[in-house]
Amino acid sequence: MNTPAENLLKKISDKGWAGRIVPARHLAELREAIREKYRQGLLDKSMYENQLSSFSFSPESHPASVKSIIIVAVPAPQMRIFFRWNGKRIPVIIPPTYVHYNRTTENVRDVLSAWLEHDGFLLTRPHLPLKTLAVQSGLASYGKNNLCYVNKLGSFLQLVAACTNLPCDDDPWREPATLSRCKTCTACEKICPTRAIPADRFLLYAERCLTYHNEAANDFPDWIHPSWHHCLIGCMRCQTACPENKHVVKRFEEHGGFSEEETRLLIQRVPFDQLPPETASRIKDLEINDDYRILCRNLSMLIGREN
Ligand code: SF4
Ligand code: SF4
Repeated sequence: MNTPAENLLKKISDKGWAGRIVPARHLAELREAIREKYRQGLLDKSMYENQLSSFSFSPESHPASVKSIIIVAVPAPQMRIFFRWNGKRIPVIIPPTYVHYNRTTENVRDVLSAWLEHDGFLLTRPHLPLKTLAVQSGLASYGKNNLCYVNKLGSFLQLVAACTNLPCDDDPWREPATLSRCKTCTACEKICPTRAIPADRFLLYAERCLTYHNEAANDFPDWIHPSWHHCLIGCMRCQTACPENKHVVKRFEEHGGFSEEETRLLIQRVPFDQLPPETASRIKDLEINDDYRILCRNLSMLIGREN
């Protein structure tokens, strides 16, 4: 007879997701992983302090007397949004997870919570370092581009964590692992327009990655060629070229998009609170309003190229 943990993992898999459950004692190792990154100089002081204070590492901090941590990967396609401009319908890509991030997280947790409650268990909603948890639980492996990959989902996924008082007898915890294909593949390294993926070490040169620059509000450095930008935010080059993504790379969610007048308001960078309410509401519905000013700047650059 299956244990409750095995039953939960079956429900997760039947839904087309992937998941692992690990004992709650590994919360301490997640905290140690953040400390180790800081010791290695991979996090600056403010990011380190922010992560240590914002993540929920202590089992005692969870009301349900936590026994295990659940980590789930759900499919997250790219989104194609259409902007009308000069009479043309221009498609613009948003990479996985930028859109509907919070909604997806809470929907997944609601489903897990209902399953757990049905069997008499409780769920809490922690803030945890998701990539570290996914890789060390055995759910995911790192690619050379430092993204998380999960079997059948590739890197087109969103990670969601929950804590629970569900007992967990098995322990799949392991040391961080990379995809075996990365030993012989160089596709991402070759396609990266900024040479951010090194051949001789695991860690990306984050400060060279296009995503780092087009997610920030600062001006772009001169060495970034405007033609390298191809997404409303972020960059898809290494994920699109990766053979691990061949089954998912053509999956898109489509969004009806924005009229010519709305596009004009966006590229003129009209403040968010001065947009027509229905335009603001559609941007909010996509959950991209926090990055509104950055998106307007990036859109002007992409649309500018179309002129
Ligand atoms: S996201 Fe783009 S810039 Fe960053 S490593 Fe991948 S290909 Fe290079
Ligand atoms: S493109 Fe190749 S090297 Fe890069 S992450 Fe994918 S499998 Fe690994």
